[in-house]
Amino acid sequence: MQDIKELGLKELEDKLQSLGLPKYHARQIFKWIYQKGALDFNNMSDLPAALRKKLAGEFYILGLELADLQRSSDGTTKFLFELKDKNLIEAVNIPAARRVTGCISSQVGCKFSCQFCASSLKGFKRNLTVGEILDEALYLKNNTQQAELTHIVFMGTGEPLDNYEDVLKSIRMINSPYAFNIGARRITISTSGIIPGIKKLAGEDLQIELSISLHAADDKTRSQLMPVNKRYPLEALIKCCHEYIAKTNRQITFEYILIKGVNSSLPSAQNLVKLLKDLRLAKVNLIPANPITALKIIPPSKAEIGAFKECLFKSGINVTLRQERGQDIQAACGQLRLRYENK
Ligand code: SAH
Repeated sequence: MQDIKELGLKELEDKLQSLGLPKYHARQIFKWIYQKGALDFNNMSDLPAALRKKLAGEFYILGLELADLQRSSDGTTKFLFELKDKNLIEAVNIPAARRVTGCISSQVGCKFSCQFCASSLKGFKRNLTVGEILDEALYLKNNTQQAELTHIVFMGTGEPLDNYEDVLKSIRMINSPYAFNIGARRITISTSGIIPGIKKLAGEDLQIELSISLHAADDKTRSQLMPVNKRYPLEALIKCCHEYIAKTNRQITFEYILIKGVNSSLPSAQNLVKLLKDLRLAKVNLIPANPITALKIIPPSKAEIGAFKECLFKSGINVTLRQERGQDIQAACGQLRLRYENK
């Protein structure tokens, strides 16, 4: 049995034609799966019965199963999924006024070992396939409450630019008017700063959003927090950001987790201003660290967070403070999966 979501529209059309069937059924099938959320070929009532049967014999639609679910008092819902090979991944629905953001994983585990992140604690297992990434999006779309799924962010487990081809293919499906039809500007890739991936992304004909997990503005602190900085240090990363902005004319969001005693002092804020001040289209998103006991990560006081933000703001940096969501359900990366794998 094959995952039908591994096939793009053209591939499905070709497949139907090879079976001696008209290719327009492909668009009908896409609509059923990606827009109406059908999980069973038998329910695709405008398809000939023989085709439904044939499809059901060759393909499956959803490859994952729900292993656990946690709903926060703020509506944020975290899903733990079991894949066909029994690996576990996480995805989260985050509702806000008239929007729902789906946060999805790109890999099983992570190889980048960021010191504040629970995703690496059990190491890296493998990349997710296009079908598995779309499984997450489909499940999230079918399980929102109140509003529709409007945004997708690759901020779950894994490094999307380390699984470049499959992530990009899945983004094209999420964006396609025949599939999920979510606007490119509502799709965000978040990266730890993989320079070759950012360069490649700048050449794609896709207006997607780019976030870079910065978390420190000096190489010493950043290399301690994020070992990937030794391979792609700040000077090269910021140079690459200049090139990205010049080529795409698109803004880059820099994510900055504030961790008590590590990167939240005023001198750290001043370093950040120096690093980013010449970037034409940049924004900083401050995130009070989600506490992870196993990693001794705790957020600074409200006063310290306020002073950090004020310093950036006064220096003319476009800065926002991310509202913390789902804290009561351990919605930070990798935390739910970790609880299970430690059992
Ligand atoms: N590998 C990619 C995407 C996954 S991480 C990246 O590095 O961007 C998605 C976001 O969650 C990143 O900004 C990451 O730094 C953040 N994150 C991880 N652990 C966190 C924690 N304990 N508290 C707050 N944010 C965290």
